[in-house]
Amino acid sequence: MPGNELKYVSECLKTNWISSSGSFLERFESEWAKYCGQKYGIAVCNGTVALELAVDACDFPKGSEIILPSFTIISCVQAITKAGCLPVLVDCDPETYCMQVNQIESKITDRTVAIMPVHMYGHPADIEPIMDIAQKHGLIVIEDAAQTHGGEYRGRKCGSFGKLACFSFYANKNITTGEGGMVLTSDTVIAQRLRKLKNLCFLKSPRFLHHRLGYNYRMTNIQAALGIAQLENIDKFVERKIDMARKYSQALVNLPLQLPIEHKWAKNVIWMYNVLLKEEKQSQKFFEKDWQSISPEEYFRWPTYKLMEALERAGVQTRPFFIGMHEQPVFLSQGFFIGERYPVTEKIARCGFYLPSGQAITDLQIDEVSRVLKEILS
Ligand SMILES: *Cc1c(COP(=O)(O)O)cnc(C)c1O
Repeated sequence: MPGNELKYVSECLKTNWISSSGSFLERFESEWAKYCGQKYGIAVCNGTVALELAVDACDFPKGSEIILPSFTIISCVQAITKAGCLPVLVDCDPETYCMQVNQIESKITDRTVAIMPVHMYGHPADIEPIMDIAQKHGLIVIEDAAQTHGGEYRGRKCGSFGKLACFSFYANKNITTGEGGMVLTSDTVIAQRLRKLKNLCFLKSPRFLHHRLGYNYRMTNIQAALGIAQLENIDKFVERKIDMARKYSQALVNLPLQLPIEHKWAKNVIWMYNVLLKEEKQSQKFFEKDWQSISPEEYFRWPTYKLMEALERAGVQTRPFFIGMHEQPVFLSQGFFIGERYPVTEKIARCGFYLPSGQAITDLQIDEVSRVLKEILS
């Protein structure tokens, strides 16, 4: 919180504009939309409901299919199933961890309505070919850009490509409002629908007559005040992430770790500095097990988790990668993804974790984390 956060939040308190309208909200919506290259911003209370609202606002017929990567956060799939649509998965790229574009077309059916690419850990998805496929088949693109504030594809911001783009401003994202989210679009009709849906579908007049069920997904002016203050420093935050990653990557060469990459067409903002413990360090059994048959004792004997535990003992917290959506008990029990395999997702879910990457981490701490990691690996 290095900037005007306290000042702007105090202004909300002093002027009593603490709820879900106010000048900070209006500014945050329009300035974030402008920063990302879309016309309208609709602020909501978190990134998960931003995705829900985005899918709902498209009014897809029940049973419509939406194609998305198997390697992502659960918010994406539950936004789809809650709207009565069906999630259809493709595997992820072994280097960027974003959706594998060459698997999309084989998954398109008469019922496909949309593609939901997720820009992963700061590296943009290969979005141009995705837009081409979408255009060819008349599909809507809903971007999840929660992890790539400031990320770019051929000089164009993530979140500027989709008919809709969703963001989170959770505490660990590149800019934060504590909890918060936003849906961006340049479509006037969809923007109006999003605005209605997030606010219980009240009418202008008569206010309390409802034609549709909505939600209370409103963001407060206090959160938006934080957002405006954070946005003033976004270039600095992104630069620091990239700088941090450069330092980690220099320190961690020649270890059995796969480090983050950056395609020529990409600006990777390295939201989290992520590594994969390479396969030669793993045992085959590890890859064959499914999550439901793993006991906690066994889980902590796996090389990746043993390494993470050793780091924790040395005072270094890490976080594991997402587990593939096709391996989630909650979806399998609902009859989704049965028998489906996505080998890259399965592998990286078992080998990947990320290192301390917050804005408060110092260069000395990066050196120390790298030293400890090297020592454990040797
Ligand atoms: C954080 C995140 C979300 C969810 O945002 P919340 O604000 O935590 O609900 C959605 N998608 C991705 C890719 C995320 O990283």
